[in-house]
Amino acid sequence: MRAYNFCAGPAALPTAVLEKAQSELLNWQGKGVSIMEMSHRSKDYIAVAEQAEADLRNLLNIPNNYKVLFLQGGASLQFSAIPLNLLGKNNQADYVHTGIWSDKAIKEAKRYGNIHTIDATYDVEGKMAIRPSQDWQLSENASYVHYCDNETIGGIQFGEIPTTTAPLVADLSSSILSTPLDISKFGLIYAGAQKNIGPAGLTIVIVRDDLLDQTKPEIPSLLKYSAQADNASMLNTPATYSWYLAGLVFEWLKEQGGVEAIHKINLEKSNLLYGYIDQSDFYANPIAQPNRSIMNVPFTLADSSLEKLFLQEAEAAHLLNLAGHRSVGGMRASIYNAVPLEGVQALVDFMDQFANKHG
Ligand SMILES: *Cc1c(COP(=O)(O)O)cnc(C)c1O
Repeated sequence: MRAYNFCAGPAALPTAVLEKAQSELLNWQGKGVSIMEMSHRSKDYIAVAEQAEADLRNLLNIPNNYKVLFLQGGASLQFSAIPLNLLGKNNQADYVHTGIWSDKAIKEAKRYGNIHTIDATYDVEGKMAIRPSQDWQLSENASYVHYCDNETIGGIQFGEIPTTTAPLVADLSSSILSTPLDISKFGLIYAGAQKNIGPAGLTIVIVRDDLLDQTKPEIPSLLKYSAQADNASMLNTPATYSWYLAGLVFEWLKEQGGVEAIHKINLEKSNLLYGYIDQSDFYANPIAQPNRSIMNVPFTLADSSLEKLFLQEAEAAHLLNLAGHRSVGGMRASIYNAVPLEGVQALVDFMDQFANKHG
C-alpha cells in the first residue's frame, strides 16, 4: 500500500500521476523509448514541454505579458538569479524577513547589492504573526520587494498579497497552485518544483516582460531570464523528466477542477488539522491564526520527550515524514495538494489515539 507522505519536500505526488508515468515509462506513446531518453529538441518532447506551459498558464491564469521559465538549480539558485537580473541601476532592493527561507534569500542578495530588510514578524499573545505591508518601512529606490509567501519551515504564511509600489517578487515554492493567485500583482514569482509541482530538479519562474532588461552584465548566461525566455528555457538541456512529470501534475490538477477546487480541499484539510490541534492540550501550533500556513503545519507535543515515540508509531501507522525541520525540531505535517483529505483525517485520528494513550 502507499503510505500518507507528509514530507516537506521532495513531497508527495498524486498516485494517479505516478501510475500514468509508470505506464509510459518504458515506451512513451508507442515511440519505443522512455521520454527520458528523447532529445529535448525533438518535436515530440517540445510538444510535451509546450503543453505543460500551456496548462500552467491556464491553471494560474497567467497574463500574456509574463514569461514562464522551466529552469534548474532549485529555488535557492533564484536567490542569486533574482538580484542579478532585477537589481538594475539602483542596485537596491527591499527584502521582507519572515523566517528561514526569506533569510537565505536575503543573505544571498546581499552579495550583489544594497539590501534593506524589513523584519515583518511580531508576537501576538505568544503566537507569531506577520505585520501588514502598510506598516513596512520600504525604501524609495528599491528595484523590487522580495518576500516568501509561505515559510515552509516555520509554517507561517501571508494571508494576503502585500501592497508595494516597487515590483513584487515572491518565493512561492511551497504555496504555488495551492490557492488562486492574481499573477498581475507580481513582477516575478518563483518556485522549486518539489513541493506542489513535481519532482526535484525543476524550478518555475514567472516574470513580467518589462523586468527583463535590467541584468547585470556579468550574469551567467544560464541565469539570465531574457536569454532563457528567448530559448524557450532550452539554453542547455533542461530537466526533461521533471518537466514532463510536472506536466502530468498540471493535467491532474485540471482534472481535479483547477486551483479553486484544490484550494477548497486545502482549506478543509488545514482546518481539520488546526481545529484538532487547537482543542487539544497535548498538541500546540505557534502561529497566529491569520498567518497559519495551509500547506505546512508545525506542531509540538506537550511532552517533547515523546517525540521519538510519536514518529515511530506514526511510521508504523503509515504516516511518514512528520519530523520538523532539523533546525527547529518538533513535528511538521506538510499537506500539499497531493495529500488527500483522507490522509489528514488519518493523521488526526492517529494524533488523537497517541494523545489518549500517552497524555
Ligand atoms: C524548499 C524551499 C526552498 C528551497 O528550494 P530548493 O529547490 O531546495 O533550492 C526555497 N524557498 C522555500 C519557501 C522553500 O520551501
